[in-house]
Amino acid sequence: MSNSTKYIFVTGGVTSSLGKGIIAASLAKLLQARGYSTTIQKLDPYINIDPGTLNPYEHGECFVTDDGAETDLDLGHYERFLNVPTSQANNVTTGRIYQSVIEKERKGEYLGKTVQVIPHITDEIKERIQILGKKGTYDIVITEIGGTVGDIESLPYVEAVRQMKWEHEDDCIVVHLTLIPYLSAAGELKTKPTQHSVKQLLELGVQPDILCCRTEHELDLTLRKKIAKFCNVNINAVIEARDAESIYDVPLLMQDENLDKIALDKLNLPAKSTPELKNWKEFLTRLKNPTSETTIGLVGKYVELKDSYKSISESLIHAGVVNNTKVNVHWIHSDKLTSDNISKEMEGVDGVLVAPGFGSRGISGKIETVRYARENKLPFFGICLGMQCAVIEFGRNVLGLTDAHTTEIIEDCASPVIDLMAEQKNISNLGGTMRLGAYKCQLTPGSKVYKAYNTDLISERHRHRYEFNDSFLKQYEENGMKATGKNPESGLVEVVEISEHPWFVGAQFHPEYKSTVANPHPLFAAFVKASMK
Ligand code: GLN
Repeated sequence: MSNSTKYIFVTGGVTSSLGKGIIAASLAKLLQARGYSTTIQKLDPYINIDPGTLNPYEHGECFVTDDGAETDLDLGHYERFLNVPTSQANNVTTGRIYQSVIEKERKGEYLGKTVQVIPHITDEIKERIQILGKKGTYDIVITEIGGTVGDIESLPYVEAVRQMKWEHEDDCIVVHLTLIPYLSAAGELKTKPTQHSVKQLLELGVQPDILCCRTEHELDLTLRKKIAKFCNVNINAVIEARDAESIYDVPLLMQDENLDKIALDKLNLPAKSTPELKNWKEFLTRLKNPTSETTIGLVGKYVELKDSYKSISESLIHAGVVNNTKVNVHWIHSDKLTSDNISKEMEGVDGVLVAPGFGSRGISGKIETVRYARENKLPFFGICLGMQCAVIEFGRNVLGLTDAHTTEIIEDCASPVIDLMAEQKNISNLGGTMRLGAYKCQLTPGSKVYKAYNTDLISERHRHRYEFNDSFLKQYEENGMKATGKNPESGLVEVVEISEHPWFVGAQFHPEYKSTVANPHPLFAAFVKASMK
């Protein structure tokens, strides 16, 4: 067995949205279960430095790591599947690559050479790919290349893969994910798009080792043989990737297809014994056999694109499993909520979650939701902006501060109950400048959050510029809204709750980034449990 780290590249062909992230995460899960320490990295071909400044309508949620990277949402899948935190190094964009090459050029590091895509950009890509491998922590690094093979943007990445395969022949393989469409008029699965997509890869000098074929129907032996022959892959390396009921089924489906074993064979790594995946299967059994149903209203301004709240909806699934209940998410558009229609919209809702967000659109609907939940004793969970809305609502309707607001919306409002953090005051750039990543939080014994976590010191991830304005704290606490979680160093309010309410919790941090299959998040579990009553 070679001592060097092995690299598995996952590329995509034919069309986007085939679920490369889930396939990569599933393969990683299987390799991890066989005892290989595995991590996953996403290379994104767009020119933004990171997705932090992207509108969620573009690519869905922005995921945040412990070390404060704003990343692609696929990193959320990686963490949920592997239960291992990712970091800055796990997501790299073209913008980041060019930024560092240009910085080096300005410092004169290229010694007067003409700076070019090959070798300078491709070298930078290869270096970024190997950063994780060189750490010595991982046996296997899976690198998912965003986009579709053939896109102009992804050319340098495919070229870097070609070079890596050439330079480290024994340590690199390529898994290509493609589509086998079903033509209902012909009643047939068609392999041609896959053949074309593999030809495109071959034109770029990359021979895939394994083909994962997304399909709605069974890929029979005849089709597998045909694909194998046209694409120069072994017949056993033509993998059927059927549509699954849940993304959490995919590791087991891939195990049935021997994806992990074939990958290990090709990397000359011993397969050891096939793992049982006991805990994973137990999770799935519970997921598929709930004993009740619970409806959670999710109020946000991007609900047309459910990927905008990916980590929240997955956390709710995990929390449902803990409580043996099926969580149905009722998506509610905050823009459309008013005091006139709120009770109608909340019909059949057992608990309500007000989502994170930025800017003024939909904020009055979110505040209205808080009022409804507070007055009707409906379990309420506010995350980040959702927590800030809870503070604003309480200020206006309980404390009588009619003009309570956040200075994010009204800069000179008379009762700035949510205000810009001191450390944010001189920042003008938008990218990567928020309070980001993991910070500790001290919980008040006896509070709802304390009971949920069953401990007093926690660490959670953040992504915000505004905070609870301390000068109002006394007034809030005297009237029933308590700060039950605070940053132990700065005293910053991280959690508010109303003790008299059955379950009313607002968190300045984002618990959704830390919920995994192996460790469903305690706060989501407690919220769903309260909603079941
Ligand atoms: N816009 C708010 C802030 O910056 C909340 C951010 C969020 O919900 N992630 O503080």
